[in-house]
Amino acid sequence: MSSRSATGSGSLMWFRKGLRIHDNPALEYASRGSTPVYPVFVIDPHYMEPDPTAFSPGSALAGLNRIRFLLESLVDLDLSLKKLGSRLLVLKGEPSEVVIRCLKQWDVKKLCFEYDTDPYYQALDMKVKNYASSAGIEVFSPVSHTLFNPAYIIQKNGGKPPLSYQSFLKLAGQPSWASSPLSVSLSSLPPVGDTGSCEISEVPTVRELGYEDYEQDELTPFRGGESEALKRLKESISNKEWVANFEKPKGDPSAYVKPATTVLSPYLKFGCLSSRYFYQCLIDVYKNVKKHTAPPVSLVGQLLWRDFFYTAAFGTPNFDQMKGNKICKQIPWNNDDELLAAWREARTGFPWIDAIMVQLRKWGWMHHLARHCVACFLTRGDLFIHWEKGRDVFERLLIDSDWAINNGNWLWLSCSSFFYQYHRIYSPISFGKKYDPNGNYIRHFLPILKDMPKEYIYEPWTAPLSIQKKSKCIIGIDYPKPVVSHDSASKECKRKLAEAYALNQKLNGQVSEDDLKTLRRKLEGDENQESGSKRQRQNPSDLS
Ligand code: FAD
Repeated sequence: MSSRSATGSGSLMWFRKGLRIHDNPALEYASRGSTPVYPVFVIDPHYMEPDPTAFSPGSALAGLNRIRFLLESLVDLDLSLKKLGSRLLVLKGEPSEVVIRCLKQWDVKKLCFEYDTDPYYQALDMKVKNYASSAGIEVFSPVSHTLFNPAYIIQKNGGKPPLSYQSFLKLAGQPSWASSPLSVSLSSLPPVGDTGSCEISEVPTVRELGYEDYEQDELTPFRGGESEALKRLKESISNKEWVANFEKPKGDPSAYVKPATTVLSPYLKFGCLSSRYFYQCLIDVYKNVKKHTAPPVSLVGQLLWRDFFYTAAFGTPNFDQMKGNKICKQIPWNNDDELLAAWREARTGFPWIDAIMVQLRKWGWMHHLARHCVACFLTRGDLFIHWEKGRDVFERLLIDSDWAINNGNWLWLSCSSFFYQYHRIYSPISFGKKYDPNGNYIRHFLPILKDMPKEYIYEPWTAPLSIQKKSKCIIGIDYPKPVVSHDSASKECKRKLAEAYALNQKLNGQVSEDDLKTLRRKLEGDENQESGSKRQRQNPSDLS
């Protein structure tokens, strides 16, 4: 409840995601009937402060590629605001403290920002809203990052999030705004007001944030910003046939010169592109073609996957962890830092897996099926390492890193939630070969293997030494031997998952830490026994 009324006539538009002018209801409302309008972005040290101890350049939470992408998006936003007679005010510090300080100093009666379902922003926004309401400042916080309001879908489903895509579709129906045109442009914005003693800066460079510049070949080819997003969107939808026939998961994960999907995810992540505008453009294409694909495989279907994970994440306490997460199977994953580092640093010895991990480090983006392969390999396919560890690596390095989507997909790929067919494992050898028999993708991202004949490119350890020498790549010296034997590792993983699933079923999901410890001991005992008897089978002379 307001204890006093704000006297100002201006508004503060707080940008966080939603780094765009088009379809931005918070910005539109901020500018309606208000002068001045303060467009603010706060550089949050929590996300941006350099962390020299991190495993690659960047902050503790974000790799440098994503930080750079964000800065490019801010520069673009600033330019667009300037064209409209305004500009971006960049401040630094803990965002809720900074925004409250601005509200105290500036002539503001309205605070506008896009609603954010991520737990970090939920906590932050609560503090800011509490202050605003005590100061009599109106808060306008519309849902415009997703197609639907996750809270509304959860409410429609009796307070629980739908946990299957089909049930989500049924509840969601058509978006309410789908048939009316979205506001995609603004002609002008009210000027910025006096900023008093608040420390305002231009958008900083990576160097000004305390980072050294990257080597050129480590940079993602994707540039941040709304202008780039709209250009990319236009290119994608101009090929009507491609849009109409889009069918995931049919695309080629090894296509890197021209990726098989839109690569709009980083733009959607930062809100440089409105998912609602994207949706409307796709519907317009569908109206002009005879036949088109449908969810879950169509492009609209992909946007609905995004909303599905947003809704599941918003309605599930502890969605980002195994412990205390009711929809997550409790599984006694291994703790093996060496294997985890080998996976993260593209040293598994499986070229298909390592090339994908190099693409992740260099580009911050990989095709969906490529993500499937490395996530499956790390968790239930081969290494049996906790999905949370893989999630953390993706979270830092992806330029499209998104809290709800990343966690949701790791839950899926590790067969911890949503998808439970743990016997279906991606082969780190034959899967990529289907799409790219010559191994061009591997040769590009792992140039050490560029001269390996195609017969061996997916399994270079099987190449005779003479071929390895000729290819200037000795396995075990220039490129690692495989960290596991895929056949036996995947068999082990399936056995462990079968036991873990049985325990989850027996205890009706109420698996305690002690239960998991007991199961882990049992599985390790079985494993030792198994490898002991294997050794005996291989060396019968040891028996005597
Ligand atoms: P397109 O196929 O062109 O699809 C258009 C848009 O639909 C995407 O930009 C994205 O916003 C959405 N979309 C597509 N697939 C999915 C999906 N499976 N789930 C949710 N939304 C989807 N995507 C992220 O945006 N951020 C992440 O942090 C992320 N982490 C992932 C982690 C794992 C382990 C896996 C398997 C997938 C992850 N994805 C993530 C989902 C998906 O791989 C990417 O959204 C997609 O590859 C992005 O490329 P695109 O924009 O060309 O997709």
